[in-house]
Amino acid sequence: MDPLCVDLWVVIAGGNVSNNRIQRDIEAANEVWKTCRIHFSLKGILTIRSVNVEKFVGNGVFTSSNPPEILNMLSIRPLYPGRYKIVIYYVDGKRFSDGANGVSPYPLPLTEGGPRPSIILTNDAHPDVTFTRFVLAHELGHTLFLNPNNLTLTNPSTTATPDGFHDNDPNNLMFVGGVGSNPTINKEQCEKARLSVFARRCWVIPIPIHIFPPFGPVPPWPPPGPPPPGPPMMLHMFYGVENPCFGSSMTWNQQYWNKLG
Ligand SMILES: [Zn+2]
Repeated sequence: MDPLCVDLWVVIAGGNVSNNRIQRDIEAANEVWKTCRIHFSLKGILTIRSVNVEKFVGNGVFTSSNPPEILNMLSIRPLYPGRYKIVIYYVDGKRFSDGANGVSPYPLPLTEGGPRPSIILTNDAHPDVTFTRFVLAHELGHTLFLNPNNLTLTNPSTTATPDGFHDNDPNNLMFVGGVGSNPTINKEQCEKARLSVFARRCWVIPIPIHIFPPFGPVPPWPPPGPPPPGPPMMLHMFYGVENPCFGSSMTWNQQYWNKLG
């Protein structure tokens, strides 16, 4: 099995990301999905104004069924992600009003620029709060099962729940009763996930890297205006995750405009 890579972009919308939450969520997802040789890597982070989701229902699988506050937030995406990139929103609030602490993937139809899958994580999905480390890994499962042509999210497992979203196996990552502390992924799920449009061939040899903080403090943001002459300075946005998909980075100027965005 060749390794496959999935790029993740993060938008912080008031969510509690203390204690290296983002890095730990992605590491936990990699721990589970390595069964299928699927590797997630963080490509960039954008911070926007806070959105509290406590008064909203979290079952809006499809974008059109969501309140304007959620739709506004989902319309803000980092600069690079196109329709096939996954964006994770860390929002304020303990949980959605129906008790969900994570939802996904809010796809859009292809005719509206979709699928543009999005995952929303509330503060109760923080690995220091919930009993599991694998909420993001679970939500990524829904995303990897997404068919962008008809926006179905079918779990291919033989033990799938009747609605097709989750799994009746309590050990499974997609368990309907909530993901446990040592979740598994079965063969059917791996096979489907590896066919996902979001999983691409990794294009650089695996090398362990630790970018932050390797060479001293991060320099300040450059002033607005045209970029300085010469080749762009590169800032890698990784958090020291071992990253076989290494190769993507953002220039200072792009980052600056993203930050303004
Ligand atoms: Zn689920």
